Amino acid sequence: MSASVSARPGGSDRPAISIQGLVKSFGPIEVLKKINLDVHAGEVVCVIGPSGSGKSTLLRCVNLLEEPTGGKIFVGPDEMTDPDVDIDKVRRRIGMVFQQFNLFPHLTVLKNLTVAQIKVLKRSKGEAEKIARENLERVGLAHREDAFPAQLSGGQQQRVAIARSLSMSPELMLFDEPTSALDPELVGEVLAVMKGLASEGMTMMVVTHEMAFARDVADRVVFMDGGYVVEEGPAEQVIGNPQHERTQAFLARVL
Ligand code: ADP
Ligand code: MG
Repeated sequence: MSASVSARPGGSDRPAISIQGLVKSFGPIEVLKKINLDVHAGEVVCVIGPSGSGKSTLLRCVNLLEEPTGGKIFVGPDEMTDPDVDIDKVRRRIGMVFQQFNLFPHLTVLKNLTVAQIKVLKRSKGEAEKIARENLERVGLAHREDAFPAQLSGGQQQRVAIARSLSMSPELMLFDEPTSALDPELVGEVLAVMKGLASEGMTMMVVTHEMAFARDVADRVVFMDGGYVVEEGPAEQVIGNPQHERTQAFLARVL
């Protein structure tokens, strides 16, 4: 296990993420309907389901990019939904990677990885660069630290975005369809990096349409539809032998 991956956020058997009765409404429309889900330290949970089922909203509630309407969310020992929690502090422990890479276009790869370390974590430039280089190595891009984002392929840019997130030393990582914006031939290199992270013991929640990845890497697969968790379990069960007819219908469309 890598030293930069914390195996047990909270230092106990407490789940890394505990989602309890989570409700999220946008105006009158309830898009998450009492979601209960625990993710344990070192576990990889893949969230699958049709477009509009609430997958992104669920992920965004975990680090409070969306404010839950009801229910509780714990990250390690800290309740995200406690009005007194220091959101910025807790959020720092959570890495997030989106479909769009959102790199700073005017900064080199190395600078993209050091700015937040220096500004937010108050690391020295030297320390930040050392950590950045370790993480570029981890995603196979050590040789591109002086490149600008526009000089890289989409797959390389997404790997830089992952390395940037890792450079903040997160306890857990959230991925929202990290390969959906990529040309098909670039998907594999990003999934390979994610698979490497998983094998190092990183706690991960991954929204994905890549069923082969989910089958291969997920400890648990969660199928969402209409704001509910319809079915969850080991990949071989949920993808290989789904019990619910809505899961079966979804998989019939995507497999
Ligand atoms: P998924 O990621 O599974 O495609 P989302 O979580 O993005 O689903 O969306 C779930 C539902 O919530 C959709 O019906 C979507 O239109 C709605 N929704 C998402 N974000 C907002 C928002 N900011 N305002 C209003 N409705 C939203
Ligand atoms: Mg989404």
